[in-house]
Amino acid sequence: MTTSIAETTFTTPCPDWCTLKPGHPADSETFDGRSLRGHGRPAFGGFLFAGAYEYADAPGALEYDVQLAADGDTLTVAQLLDLARNALDAAAWLEAHR
Ligand SMILES: [Zn+2]
Repeated sequence: MTTSIAETTFTTPCPDWCTLKPGHPADSETFDGRSLRGHGRPAFGGFLFAGAYEYADAPGALEYDVQLAADGDTLTVAQLLDLARNALDAAAWLEAHR
């Protein structure tokens, strides 16, 4: 019997910066069947979202990344300048946490 994604829980605590419900379960699965959960933190402006992934088979080991808002978004000049400033903040956050 296989364990569904929703049934995959973690015994490791969320990082202190995670904004999701403490102890949240796995929320996705890789193509080869590895369950994982994504830890989220506030956005850097409206276009960058930092966080980290944690795999059920490697609890506590976090893979950090920064995601862009949905593909196809267009930016005004002011938004592009905000994005550039926020990108520096996001990069500094990654450097401090990875
Ligand atoms: Zn979390």
